[in-house]
Amino acid sequence: MQDFDFDLFVIGGGSGGVRAGRVAAQTGARVALAEEDRYGGTCVIRGCVPKKLMVFASEFPTAISEARAYGWDVQQGAFDWAHFKTKLHAELDRLEGIYRNILKNNGVTTFDARATLVDGHTVMLGDGRRFTARHILLAMGGRPVVPDMPGAELGITSNDIFHLPELPKRMLIIGGGYIACEFACILNGLGVEVTQFYRGAQILRGFDDEARGLVAEEMRQNGVDLHLGTNILSMQKDGAQIRVLATNGSDMLFDQVMFATGRAPNTAAMGLAEIGVNLGRGGQVLVDEYSQTSVPSIYAVGDVTDRVNLTPVAIREGMAFVETVFNANPTPVDHDLIPTAIFTQPEMGTVGLSEEDARAKGPVEIYATSFKPMRESFAGGTQRVLMKLVVCANTRKVLGCHIVAPGAGEMIQLAGIAVKMGATKEDFDRTVAVHPTMSEEIVTMKQPVRSA
Ligand code: NDP
Repeated sequence: MQDFDFDLFVIGGGSGGVRAGRVAAQTGARVALAEEDRYGGTCVIRGCVPKKLMVFASEFPTAISEARAYGWDVQQGAFDWAHFKTKLHAELDRLEGIYRNILKNNGVTTFDARATLVDGHTVMLGDGRRFTARHILLAMGGRPVVPDMPGAELGITSNDIFHLPELPKRMLIIGGGYIACEFACILNGLGVEVTQFYRGAQILRGFDDEARGLVAEEMRQNGVDLHLGTNILSMQKDGAQIRVLATNGSDMLFDQVMFATGRAPNTAAMGLAEIGVNLGRGGQVLVDEYSQTSVPSIYAVGDVTDRVNLTPVAIREGMAFVETVFNANPTPVDHDLIPTAIFTQPEMGTVGLSEEDARAKGPVEIYATSFKPMRESFAGGTQRVLMKLVVCANTRKVLGCHIVAPGAGEMIQLAGIAVKMGATKEDFDRTVAVHPTMSEEIVTMKQPVRSA
């Protein structure tokens, strides 16, 4: 039998790669991992974690104005970006250290280097060293993409936002996905004048229409200058600012322009196609349900496969890969009914089918309620929340649950369990309400608002 340097060589030290490497090592496998940038990957270094800390920072102005309405004598001072940024990066350094230690403590050999493929069992590091492995796991993640247009190089992406020397006064955000909407809300909360262009008819394409409609309305109420059906035509430098011409005929000046126009898998110049790894049109690694590529010794997990690009999904894919390959227990990844949250203000939490997708499959009943929550209402706020269930008219199963509300991310994690278990509307109804909460409405909606 051929002797390999390692049983597993992981390329990429993000959520999926680190989890797979660690768990494989715990089975006794000899594991190596190469990372060319920082350990922790997109989620920890330039995604979910710093983003969520910025969400927290951006929510204080609302909390302070609510505190005043509740009788507290507080004044809102200025936001000190430099202070926050220093703490933010110290926290990211701490987390990166934890990721490195996880690998070290589990006996994973790490290389701070770029790795490319030589053949189905051989990788080459940036310094030319070669290592062989029985299995190779591709976990290189993705990166932001910027449209090809005049002046695009003047814009930044979400990678840069955590490193800005100062917060801009006026900012344009292009896109209508998770990242564009989350950062529009964050920066608006931090006091930046935010304009957002989205080329489509409504932000957050693919999510439930009613839910995304409410998010858009609330974002506007909160001060985001959202333009739908609008895209950027060109950008050029104008003194210290950027002049932007748009498809709606506008000609505006901004201090920063951020593209949140999607992400692409990190597969370029890796030698993948050359050794027979099949790639899709977007450059993503094509895999089967066990995350195996067209080269049997090579597997891939996470954003590099462009299946469901979420950290917990990459982690699951990594775990299933180890179970399949190192525990001889073939385990397909379950991509059905994944709960997710969009950290806009208000948040959206969602699991299962949108009303539109469910209606296309069969008859449904829709239970929905929109109201001003107690806390905000008392403080004189106008914010509304939405609780919505999409129910199959035949089986009574809850096919989708959509919540737009402060804390919706926390709520949907729990509602997701019920939906994943196949709960019916009557199961929801049998559950006693927790009073007084916003989420009690999810078990007290008696009549459908419509059937379709
Ligand atoms: P998305 O693919 O979600 O959104 C990209 C947006 O950019 C869409 O609105 C798209 O429009 C628009 N767009 C694409 N190309 C162009 C163009 N040439 N000109 C103008 N607009 C364009 O990507 P994101 O970058 O927002 O996020 C990437 C992924 O990361 C998400 O899908 C999600 O999986 C993950 N993520 C998850 C988060 C969470 O869990 N909270 C947070 C952040 C990211 P159109 O709709 O018309 O195609």
